[in-house]
Amino acid sequence: MHEIQVHNTLSGKIEPFVPLEAGVVHMYTCGPTVYDFAHIGNFRTFVFQDILRRFLKLRGFKLIHVMNLTDVDDRIIANAAAAGLGIREYTEKYVQAFFADCRTMSVESPEHWIRATENIQSMVELIQKLQKKTYTYDSEGSIYYRITKFKDYGKLSKIDLSGIQAGARVDNDRYEKESARDFALWKAPKPGEHFWETTIGPGRPGWHIECSAMAMKFLGETIDIHTGGIDLAFPHHENEIAQSEAATGKPFVRYWMHAEHLLVEGEKMSKSLGNFFTLRDLFGKGYKPSALRFALASVPYRRQLNFTFDGLQQATSSVERLRNFAARLKNEKFPAGKQAAMAERIAKAASDFDAGLSDDLNTAQALAAMFDFVREANIAMDKGEFRQGEVKTAQEFLATFEKVFAVLEDNDAEKLEALGYGGNEGSPADAEIEKLVAERQAARKRKDFAESDRIREVLSERGIILEDTKDGSVRWKRK
Ligand code: AMP
Ligand code: ZN
Repeated sequence: MHEIQVHNTLSGKIEPFVPLEAGVVHMYTCGPTVYDFAHIGNFRTFVFQDILRRFLKLRGFKLIHVMNLTDVDDRIIANAAAAGLGIREYTEKYVQAFFADCRTMSVESPEHWIRATENIQSMVELIQKLQKKTYTYDSEGSIYYRITKFKDYGKLSKIDLSGIQAGARVDNDRYEKESARDFALWKAPKPGEHFWETTIGPGRPGWHIECSAMAMKFLGETIDIHTGGIDLAFPHHENEIAQSEAATGKPFVRYWMHAEHLLVEGEKMSKSLGNFFTLRDLFGKGYKPSALRFALASVPYRRQLNFTFDGLQQATSSVERLRNFAARLKNEKFPAGKQAAMAERIAKAASDFDAGLSDDLNTAQALAAMFDFVREANIAMDKGEFRQGEVKTAQEFLATFEKVFAVLEDNDAEKLEALGYGGNEGSPADAEIEKLVAERQAARKRKDFAESDRIREVLSERGIILEDTKDGSVRWKRK
């Protein structure tokens, strides 16, 4: 086994990973802001942290991992008020959708799921600590953090603070580096907004205090790993450090790990740009959860990932190749005996796989180790050189792989059905079929036969037969 090394945003370096308490990893992940369905960009980050936790477990660590649900922030407050709903009522739908999405994407449940709205008292107490240490000031019922008082402010995101005006404030939870300002810990209620009545006055927490308070409550004052997408490094994580370290005087996080963005045509996939797909958008087009998970996991987390349908199609084939190989190992009759060279080959593949993941979670290298092996083993099988004696070790290697990548088990159909794609004993709804048929017609019209064949295949896999008629129209029926 190789030494585990990770990139720490705080130092800007690759460092050996050693948890504070031997054998146990305390880890915090900023969860989704539940004001809408998550998009696949969000899931790039969630799949990354899932691969990380699965790898650490594979390497024998006990995980104490917390993921929060940000169920109160500017956008939630605004949307809930606009919809005339309470916060809980408004967010519940998206919380449940997120849990379902995680199950579909084989993103393991962390040891603790926690909601911001259930931890308001811890946030109030943390703000009081900061008040006592004079890191705060009040203005019109809100409480702000004075960033110039915290001498390390900017150490994570390396921002230049020379132009900062003392006392300039920002009320929004999300803002750019250029507007680094004193930020709100506690916000006075505006008319019609939901608020909590507390010892520090009526109001609601800022987004940043939520994660500081919850991380320390569940994991202690110094935690091993904190993950999130790169856009959270500033201001969110910078502010988490300022709050936590000012309150405790101790280092808050030992390893900060940030996932680079998923892009669409060179731009970050985001709600505000409108260039996003939810998981359901892709499943509605017939793509499988395993293919999406593979596509998101296959590019190492510190590299930007450009999302394309071609890439997703390739991921589909890659997963198929692996599943076919696993089926071959299970079903084929190989000649009896052992072959030392193949035994060595498997050991090398397993070692290369571990080396890849140990090297700052280099998933591309780990996958290359697997695919090189599969190619060579398939050739050996075709030539009758693969022996029975190697089946078990090869299967063990696949099982190790599966513990981290989780794409081999062929459970896509069940997952899609659980999400409501299927109904009718696994058959897609009529509207969904009509949509795919129309997309196939459009592809045929522009002579994109690869795409029209793909759609036919997708429909066929889901039990739908197409009949092209003489007049160019298409009829479909369930098998
Ligand atoms: P949010 O719900 O906006 O707080 O985001 C949830 C997680 O998704 C955070 O860790 C974000 O950094 C991450 N995220 C948002 N957009 C992207 C993207 N395009 N690519 C990768 N991660 C993202
Ligand atoms: Zn957070």
